[in-house]
Amino acid sequence: MATGVHVVRTRGQAPELAFSEFLHMIERGEVAQVKSSPDGVDVILRDGRRAHTVAPAEFFGNQAFVSDLALKRGVRIDVQAAPEPGSLSGGALALAIAFLALLGFTVYRSTAGRIHTPGRAKLAERGDNVVTFQDVAGVDEAKDEVKEIVDFLRQPERFASVGGRIPKGVLLIGPPGTGKTLLARSIAGEAGVPFIFASGSDFVEMYAGVGAARVRRLFKDARRHKSCIVFIDELDAVGRSRGGSSLSHEEREQTLNQLLVEMDGFESTRGIVVIAATNRQDILDPALLRPGRFDRQVMVGNPDLKGREAILTVHARKIQTEGEVNLRSIARGTPGFSGADLANLVNEAALIAARAGRERVGDSDMEAARDKVLMGVERRSVVLSELDRVNCAYHEAGHAVVAALLPKADPLHKVTIIPRGRAMGVTMQLPEADRHTYTKGYLETQVAVLMGGRVAEELFMDHMTSGASNDIERATDIAQHMVCEWGMSSLGMRAFRKPGNAFDPDRPHSLSEATARRVDEEIHKILDGGYQLAHQLLDRNRSAVKALADALLEQEALEADEIKDLLARSGASTIH
Ligand code: ADP
Repeated sequence: MATGVHVVRTRGQAPELAFSEFLHMIERGEVAQVKSSPDGVDVILRDGRRAHTVAPAEFFGNQAFVSDLALKRGVRIDVQAAPEPGSLSGGALALAIAFLALLGFTVYRSTAGRIHTPGRAKLAERGDNVVTFQDVAGVDEAKDEVKEIVDFLRQPERFASVGGRIPKGVLLIGPPGTGKTLLARSIAGEAGVPFIFASGSDFVEMYAGVGAARVRRLFKDARRHKSCIVFIDELDAVGRSRGGSSLSHEEREQTLNQLLVEMDGFESTRGIVVIAATNRQDILDPALLRPGRFDRQVMVGNPDLKGREAILTVHARKIQTEGEVNLRSIARGTPGFSGADLANLVNEAALIAARAGRERVGDSDMEAARDKVLMGVERRSVVLSELDRVNCAYHEAGHAVVAALLPKADPLHKVTIIPRGRAMGVTMQLPEADRHTYTKGYLETQVAVLMGGRVAEELFMDHMTSGASNDIERATDIAQHMVCEWGMSSLGMRAFRKPGNAFDPDRPHSLSEATARRVDEEIHKILDGGYQLAHQLLDRNRSAVKALADALLEQEALEADEIKDLLARSGASTIH
């Protein structure tokens, strides 16, 4: 048949489809309508043809699954009469259920591991999968703020009798991977109530009314429980400010309105709490943040040093470690990591240990995992020509010597010329404490460190290579920020918008031509200053650079202590 329909046998006018084929046709969006009939399902295809399939009773029994599938693909479902379960032989039924499972599997994979059917409650009961506050670390303030919700969910009547009003909606705000979903799950886990998961992006559809219908179903399901948590991830996908000209704008507005209606529709004394997560609070429609909606906002940020250690401890409990691993030092070396990054690091360490045939994870596995996550995977299979290797050694030695000699630079952690990820070599510095602001002196130092690689190539190899491209890009970026946003140039405290800003490409260039020229000059001045500083330092310390490059060529990787020794022995000195 034209559309690849697999005809098993003909039954009157409508061809008989294999049930598996029918499911695949739904997947491919070829089905317009399905109607239950006493002996199966009548199918109307989008091109008007009709077919019939023998579906198991479970097909219509599993409403949440089927209607979700259908809604996603715009299929109309009419249940006219419950199909007779007896109309299928045992074998056919088992087969059909297996296909259902198969399709379920495809859906599972395509939603990137987070299986959820909006409106289908996932009950959190005490058991293997229950998440409690103990599993969430490093976000103590956020935890404190949501603790009272647990008390409320446990005994809503008590709160109601005192006349207390508990927030209906809590908005968790923070970057991805900081544990917002985990925190919401832990509230459900602590209170022993169902956790209903949906993602804002599930509600965003092309067809008008589909998103709103899903929101309605989600809350209908929630209301079936005495108490529960409804969690909406990526609220910004549905909750963007109204107004705008995109195609799906009307649909989005309907969906958002439905969400507002639903939230206004239940009493705050009922045991339903809606928790939503977003990273873009700034683009949310203000109506969402009004009293009685998401009026409580909790920040969930990336963890600080203590938080990172606590998160590592939580995850290290799940693996076999060799005595006490030094998690403090790993935490110190992972500024800017999110909870998800840290969980990933611990998992990576376990894999490294397992690959090496060890049964327990030790300090060295943790360190290898951190380096891998920070610097990319070592690619020892990449064969560099001798010239590339020597060039790379001098390039990295250049960065390292400038970093080691400038007092404001972050301490060196490691230098290697083993290709990692897309880099041929890496010079890694680690701040002593988490940095929240940068001084002008620190930024100028960073620019000089970035210039050090190219300068060393010029001084020792007498050429320039394209290997400095990323350094140049980063240095330019720092200089641009210093001039245009941080008021660190002679142009003073004024913000200069960059033309063609990625967030707002239509915004007109707000600078006069003369000012734009001065901005360019200031950026150039900072970059040139960094270059000159690196040049002076490396020219003065040629023997130190050479010693470091030789050591790199021999050992491929050097740790902080080794670099310090080498530099001391070659009598390196700074110019200040
Ligand atoms: P978000 O919802 O903020 O994007 P998730 O809650 O999905 O982040 O985090 C993903 C995973 O990362 C969690 O399942 C957990 O393993 C780990 N994780 C993230 N934050 C934390 C945290 N604060 N404490 C413990 N583990 C965390």
